[in-house]
Amino acid sequence: MTAVNSDEAYADIREGVGRICADFPGSYWRDLDARRAYPADFVEALSRQGYLAAMIPEEYGGAGLDLQASAVILEEIHRQGCNAAACHAQMYTMGTLLRHGSEEQKRTYLPAIAEGRLRLQAFGVTEPASGTDTLALRTTARREGDDYVINGQKIWTSRAEYSDLMILLARTGPRGEGDARTEGLSVFLVDLRELVGNGVTIRPIRTMMNHATTEVFFDDARIPASALIGEEGRGFRYVLSGMNAERILIGAECIGDAKWFLSTASDYAREREVFGGPIGRNQGIQFPLARAYAHMIAAEGLLYRAAARYDAGGNPGVEANAAKMLAADASWEAAEACVQTHGGFGFAEEYDVERKFRETRLYQVAPISTNLILCHIAEKALGLPKSY
Ligand SMILES: Cc1cc2nc3c(=O)[nH]c(=O)nc-3n(C[C@H](O)[C@H](O)[C@H](O)COP(=O)(O)OP(=O)(O)OC[C@H]3O[C@@H](n4cnc5c(N)ncnc54)[C@H](O)[C@@H]3O)c2cc1C
Repeated sequence: MTAVNSDEAYADIREGVGRICADFPGSYWRDLDARRAYPADFVEALSRQGYLAAMIPEEYGGAGLDLQASAVILEEIHRQGCNAAACHAQMYTMGTLLRHGSEEQKRTYLPAIAEGRLRLQAFGVTEPASGTDTLALRTTARREGDDYVINGQKIWTSRAEYSDLMILLARTGPRGEGDARTEGLSVFLVDLRELVGNGVTIRPIRTMMNHATTEVFFDDARIPASALIGEEGRGFRYVLSGMNAERILIGAECIGDAKWFLSTASDYAREREVFGGPIGRNQGIQFPLARAYAHMIAAEGLLYRAAARYDAGGNPGVEANAAKMLAADASWEAAEACVQTHGGFGFAEEYDVERKFRETRLYQVAPISTNLILCHIAEKALGLPKSY
């Protein structure tokens, strides 16, 4: 097991992703941000080069890369000032389909996803009354003959407008008690193409950053029983098993953001002259950047260690969660230091700092909020009573 955490590791991936990102400079993202428009060209370019099929096994037409390599792809996108939020779900939902999907589901969908003909970008878990408390979700899937009929509402279902498929978590049975409390939920691979306007309505939510997130309403939406992934009633376990990979991948985006903020701030601090010299010679400018750098490399080391353990067949829950939290903290600390280093220009759109600052704030809340990570660590690593 070798954990990668240096810029030299996976140099070919970094270089390839870097070449694509060079065609999508800050002006591209600023324009989309102002219009809250989806980066379709960017996603298309990544798909064409196979980067969004990184985790699909070669036998289904993908690159068959491991989690470490996939994390490097997302980290590099963010390090270059781009944003993978438009397309990262294709990587982090893959575990559910690969580990628990039937051979027929994999043969039907994976080759088309790998070729970029089908998009699996939507993950419908959160509901208005159940964010952190997933087990309280109310959307139902009722079996009727060869179909399931879905009723309910999801919220914050990002990219639903730009995805052909959605991984959906819905209730197929009553919530159990005690150890059985996770039962009664099932996962479906929903083909949205025929359902939108036919039982499914998608409404965009405008947020503080450009994120293409939505509300999705299900009103007697009928899907074939073959859309069920794995066994009925075991869906929560399936989704949970993919969540450590998700934590690691999102954490990698935070590391990429932190690196972008730190290099952008350092470049500026070397060039900007105030009182007859570069502001970067002042320790008041240096120290916040140096501190954020130290926190970033610590988070990076833990993150790639967790990824290596995952690739070796483990399921490192505490490490993956801790790495995601530390990486999100490091990117936020670096973002704050970058704005401060830029003075007034940190607030000007053309410097991209304020846009990246808004974008990286999300990771304190989604896909899991910092408090819940601390709850998990307290319970699993320290043996303290469960608080939720
Ligand atoms: C832009 C965006 C994109 C998203 N994309 C998706 C997506 O694609 N698919 C999807 O399913 N979801 C998505 N989400 C939802 C995201 O996962 C949830 O917002 C997140 O899990 C928190 O849930 P909530 O918003 O309901 O907060 P709540 O559960 O209402 O929590 C509110 C606050 O209370 C705190 N809190 C709650 N319980 C406890 C406790 N026991 N102890 C301490 N503190 C506690 C939380 O930490 C949080 O700070 C997205 C959210 C956003 C904002």
